[in-house]
This record gives sequence, structure tokens and C-alpha cells, in this order.
Amino acid sequence: MEIIETDVAIIGGGPAGCTCALYTSRSNLNTVIIDKNPSVGALAITHQIANYPGVPVDISGEKLLTLMREQAVQYGTDYRRAQVFGIDVAEDWKTVYTPEGTFKAKALVLASGAMGRPASFKGEADFLGKGVSYCATCDGAFYKNREVAVVGANKEAIEEATVLTKFASTVHWITSSDPKSDNEEAMELMHSSNIKHWSRTRLLEIKGNDMGVNGVVVKNKQEEGPINLDLDGVFVYMSGSKPITDFLGDQIALKEDGGVIVDDFMSTNSDGVWAIGDIRNTPFKQAVVAASDGCIAAMSIDRYLNSRKNIRVDWIHS
Ligand SMILES: Cc1cc2nc3c(=O)[nH]c(=O)nc-3n(C[C@H](O)[C@H](O)[C@H](O)COP(=O)(O)OP(=O)(O)OC[C@H]3O[C@@H](n4cnc5c(N)ncnc54)[C@H](O)[C@@H]3O)c2cc1C
Repeated sequence: MEIIETDVAIIGGGPAGCTCALYTSRSNLNTVIIDKNPSVGALAITHQIANYPGVPVDISGEKLLTLMREQAVQYGTDYRRAQVFGIDVAEDWKTVYTPEGTFKAKALVLASGAMGRPASFKGEADFLGKGVSYCATCDGAFYKNREVAVVGANKEAIEEATVLTKFASTVHWITSSDPKSDNEEAMELMHSSNIKHWSRTRLLEIKGNDMGVNGVVVKNKQEEGPINLDLDGVFVYMSGSKPITDFLGDQIALKEDGGVIVDDFMSTNSDGVWAIGDIRNTPFKQAVVAASDGCIAAMSIDRYLNSRKNIRVDWIHS
């Protein structure tokens, strides 16, 4: 497994993470953004963004985010797609675990946003890690030649179901509405030989025993009663509005509302770890606020890593 050492590791490539990376890269700090998926964060799914200062009013959130990411990369940021499933912040070097590799950083920035959701299906919390997963690239290989379900119709669900078709014998794709016919990725997925699409179907319950998940109960709109499906794994991809902190364990202090606690410099309770953007559960969740957090954290990191007393400005272009 690859081990990547860097000055700054940023978890999340939304406006918070990209802005932080822009500033740290411009401060000559080696910077890696580790991003689950550039299409599923809050800004990425925003159809139109008319209130980000200085950009055309008809720009989509995805386009604005692409510009932010490209600007950071232009200044040297290493952008990598990977889903973080754990961190270890006990030592001076902070460790970030992903299925694609392990990252070691002198400064760690948490910027994974607030598009998470509490486990809300019956049985979901009980079997989390015992057959319920949110990451096909992390857990897909455990389901070689076994049956699994993917719940959700968003871009992430489609991509993850596609990953699972390479391992599972059958992937039951459960969606409450039909994907649009111009959605090429969804159409391609539906043509996979081992996909069974359950259209207009809701997940009612995830069932299992001491060994883990052994089935689900679903309700199809056209069928009278519930349907039982025997399978070994359930991958849930539904959007919500809760800070994404599941990969932190108990290592970082959170507020009662689930947001990460920070000081004026975006530093968390753990030395060498910052948190920016919607993961703080800010009262005003806006792209410009997330970007501002990213700038503050980056300048604070520059001071921390270079042991400066004062914060250096970023407007001298030499
Ligand atoms: C529908 C909608 C419309 C909006 N409209 C506006 C608007 O018009 N104007 C405005 O200013 N704001 C708007 N917002 C709010 C704005 O989009 C957010 O405040 C902003 O995007 C937050 O930035 P962020 O970087 O903190 O999080 P996000 O933009 O959510 O980015 C988080 C990133 O982290 C990644 N990630 C998550 N978990 C992991 C993990 N485990 N490992 C690695 N990466 C991970 C995600 O893939 C994502 O790329 C809107 C939000 C929504 C949901």
C-alpha cells in the first residue's frame, strides 16, 4: 500500500478544501487534497450559484468548484480521489487512511462538508460495519460472488454500484424514482449483466443476525406487499445534512449539533488538526463562508509549520 508524506493533507475537495489548498500551495507547502468524489459535495450539486462574489451569475456549482480545484492544482496541489475511512492524530505526523493509500501529514485539515445523514433505515445502525457500508471501493472486495444491494439514485450511488458489479454476483439497485434516460452512467449501469434494478422501490428494513446482514425488505409501488431479498451487504447512498465526521472516531471534539469545534484560527482541540467549512455546522452554510474558513486555516497552518509569530500575507507575488 502506497504511503504518501506531505506537509498538509486536506480531507475534502469542496470550496473549503480547495481554498485552503490554494493558500497552502502558494505558501510552498506540499499539499494533498483527498476527495471522495468531486460531484457529490454541497457546492458540486448546486444547480446555479448566483452569490459567489465576482463570478458570472449563471455559473453552476460544479463549474465553480472545478475552477477552484484547477486553481489549487495550478499552484501545486496534488488532488487525489479517495474516500477517507479513518485518521490517527495521536502522533506529530497525522495519518489518514484510504483504500488507495495512507497519507502522513504534518498538518491535517478536515473539510468533508455536511452532506452526511444519520443512519435512518431500520437495521442500518445495528449492522453498520457488519454488512452495511457507505464505501464500495473500501468494502466491495468482501462481496466477491455474493449478492448486495445499493440504495440511492444519486451520482455516488451509480458510481459505487458500478464498482460493485465487478465483485458481486448480483447488485440489487434500489431507487425510489427512475434515473433519467439521458443519464449515461445510469443507463450503462442498468445494462450490466449482474444488475437488478428495483425501480420505484423503497428500502423498509435491513435484516440480519449475529453474523451480519442477511437480507432486506423493500416495497415496490406496483406490488401489494413488502418483498424480502436475501443478500449479504447493503451500500447506502442517500444525501442528508449532517457534518461528515464518521471517520474521526472519538479523536476530535464535536459540538452537540455534530459540528467540529474550532477556535478563531480553525484549529480543533487536537494540535495540528484544523476543520473548515460545513463540517463545523456553521449557522450560515455558504460557499463564500467555506472558502473564507479555508483561507484562515491555511494562514494559520503556514504560521504553525514555519513557527512564525505573525501570520504572513498572501498578496506579495514574487
Ligand atoms: C442544494 C444546495 C444549494 C446551495 N446553494 C448555495 C448557493 O447558492 N450559494 C452558496 O454560497 N452556497 C450554497 N450552498 C451551500 C454551499 O454549497 C456549502 O456551504 C459549501 O459547499 C460547503 O463547502 P465545504 O467545502 O465545507 O463542503 P462540500 O462542498 O460539501 O464539499 C465536501 C467535499 O468533501 C468530500 N468528502 C466527504 N466525505 C469524505 C471522505 N470521507 N473522504 C474524502 N472526501 C470526502 C466530498 O466528496 C466533497 O467533495 C448550497 C448547498 C446545497 C446543498
